[in-house]
Amino acid sequence: MTKDDIITLPKPRLRARSQKVTFVTPEIEKVIADMEAATIDWEASRKHEVGVALAAVQIDQLKRVVVIRDDFNDKDNHNFTVFINPEITKYEGTVEKDYEGCLSVKNVYGLVPRHTKVRVKAMGLDGKEFRVTAEGFLARIFQHEIDHTNGIVFIDHIRDQEDAFFTLTDSGELAASNYAAEIKDNPELWESSED
Ligand SMILES: [Zn+2]
Repeated sequence: MTKDDIITLPKPRLRARSQKVTFVTPEIEKVIADMEAATIDWEASRKHEVGVALAAVQIDQLKRVVVIRDDFNDKDNHNFTVFINPEITKYEGTVEKDYEGCLSVKNVYGLVPRHTKVRVKAMGLDGKEFRVTAEGFLARIFQHEIDHTNGIVFIDHIRDQEDAFFTLTDSGELAASNYAAEIKDNPELWESSED
């Protein structure tokens, strides 16, 4: 599995709800291995970005599975933690805006409001339930990825906010997008369609 297996907008599946996973079968293990391989391959092709996490829908599998890098400050650490049927049980902290991008939304970044602290419940690879409390950037990642399992893409939170959209320049900096020309009525972003 490679970065080319990652689906991007306007694919309609990105706005579909994923199904709950009942058992960790070999099929699910294969989906997880594919998700990790696709994320690492995507990252290898990007100069200025890190692939921090992926939801199964992004490789066209409507299953409630999310993988998150164990150390997203270290590109050489290719270990992930797997969260099956992840669910936010409590929102805490404050709501803050910060930049987000997505492997399924090409070249669009956004300033998205998220809670600074969340409590998450999930099933692990061993089939057992576990809980984590996440703060800061990790809390943001959980909210972004769990949104994917519910068919929500980060841009859906900021659709009408003219000053919330950015693009990555060749030198790796974020520059404000031209909202009227590139975002507002861009069918790629807002209208689901196959190719
Ligand atoms: Zn995403």
